[in-house]
Amino acid sequence: MKILFSLYLVLAVIIAQFFAAYFFSKSRTSYLKVFSALVLCISIYLFGYLMIINSNNLQEMIFWNQIQYLGLPFISVLWLVIALLYTETVCSLRDRMVLLLFLVPVFTFFMRLTNSWHQLFYKSWEVRQLFGYYSLYMERGYWYYVNISYTTICLLLTIIIYFLGYLKNQADYPKKPHFLVFFFASLIPLIGIILILFAFEERSVDYTALFMPLSLIVISYGILKYDFLEVRSLARETIFENNFAGMVILGPGHRIIDYNKAAKKFFGSLNISLDNYPIDHILKSEPELLEIFKSDIDRDFSLVIDGEERFFEIDAVPLGNFHDGNTRMLKSIRDVTEERKIQNRLKVLATTDSLSGLYNRTEFMNLAQNELALAKKYNEELSLLMIDLDCFKIINDTFGHAAGDEVIREMGNIMKSSFRKTDIVGRIGGEEFAVVLKNASLKEAKKAAEKFRKTVAKKKLVYGEQEISFTVSIGVAAIHGDTYESSNIEDILKKADDALYKAKAKGRNCVVAFGLEL
Ligand code: GH3
Ligand code: MG
Ligand code: MG
Repeated sequence: MKILFSLYLVLAVIIAQFFAAYFFSKSRTSYLKVFSALVLCISIYLFGYLMIINSNNLQEMIFWNQIQYLGLPFISVLWLVIALLYTETVCSLRDRMVLLLFLVPVFTFFMRLTNSWHQLFYKSWEVRQLFGYYSLYMERGYWYYVNISYTTICLLLTIIIYFLGYLKNQADYPKKPHFLVFFFASLIPLIGIILILFAFEERSVDYTALFMPLSLIVISYGILKYDFLEVRSLARETIFENNFAGMVILGPGHRIIDYNKAAKKFFGSLNISLDNYPIDHILKSEPELLEIFKSDIDRDFSLVIDGEERFFEIDAVPLGNFHDGNTRMLKSIRDVTEERKIQNRLKVLATTDSLSGLYNRTEFMNLAQNELALAKKYNEELSLLMIDLDCFKIINDTFGHAAGDEVIREMGNIMKSSFRKTDIVGRIGGEEFAVVLKNASLKEAKKAAEKFRKTVAKKKLVYGEQEISFTVSIGVAAIHGDTYESSNIEDILKKADDALYKAKAKGRNCVVAFGLEL
């Protein structure tokens, strides 16, 4: 009997020590720190009791009883503090009021320590023999009853707090009875205390020591099951639910298993409601989106919402193993409209000349190069105009540099409205412009250039009080069948430039085509 009981206590002490260390290492929250302290106190108390039942002289027993009181007075108050923190009745240990609760236990500790002077805690001691082993019998003093009453009150309060917590939380989380577990765990030591006070006193068995390990196991189970695990999955759920990206989980047969708020909103803007049907059914009216959702590669999708085009990146994340017909995946829908807008803005800034609004030199050359490659590939003709403002220096000198800028701006407008959408129009230097005319022979290009020259010449720019007229000289060059192989964009530019030079030499405000000079 004694051996069995000792073994039980040894095991309980080891488990308690383990939990104390485990929760201490894991504790990021106040209540777990307190829990770790509680388990440590319990283990000290149980260890003391283990030593008492294995001692056979009074002196040793009194010594181990003193050791017990290193932990014992603090157990119930720590229990109460955990309840206060866990149910968020108080938010942190820094709450001064909480520390006041420790006054009585600290006083108890000193009363027990100095008992030999005043006998207020224990009036007398004696060793008794019980079931063949010795036990310590103590006649209780005045402060003993103060302490045990305080302990009882603390445990009662703990029980009430957990019970109220359970009632309150039942409404929010009906299936999460973690407060109930804590409630029962706190009830067990209380029963021990009641037994100590009122039952079988003469046997001097410490019932709380007997019951405490059970309570410890229940409460540790509660924390491990409902807190670490539940909170972790709760956190994951919260992240899923409140993610900015829409998320849809597809199960076998492309059936929608779960989705979050953002996904609901995304489909809501298409007037589609997500329910438990396969996506073939849900996305009947949106064949493009259906195809994207069935595919396991990342895709882009755009949509007009409230009159504004919005862009989405729809990514696929496989869940588990992929096998035929059993495609489980997470589809995430990310609104990238703002990113795209910034990208587009940057692209415009990088490729456009801010004064004329035409392509800048770099972009013009890139696009012209591409067009030339296409023309060669499809055996098409391609022409290029080099346009230079005549005597621009004089315009600057006469009307001022700002007026010159206005002329360049006006040139941009005229060029944009004079050529076809498919033509490439750029400002390639100070007052020099160029145009690539797709699918145009040299003659056709010359005609277009002539028309443009006349348009410019007719234009009168109103600048302040003045009217500014300006003219352009244009050089034209083209590639055709015989010259495909040898020509690159620089060659054509050079030819057009030569033609332009000739146009200037002819007296300006005219068009010269390379190879058709006469
Ligand atoms: P030509 O008929 O022979 O082309 O004579 P031009 O005066 O037009 O040619 P030139 O190359 O001698 O001078 C070009 C002038 O264009 C010089 C420069 O100050 C002016 N210019 C270049 N870029 C700008 C600009 O962005 N704004 C203004 N206002 N003037 C510019
Ligand atoms: Mg010029
Ligand atoms: Mg020039």
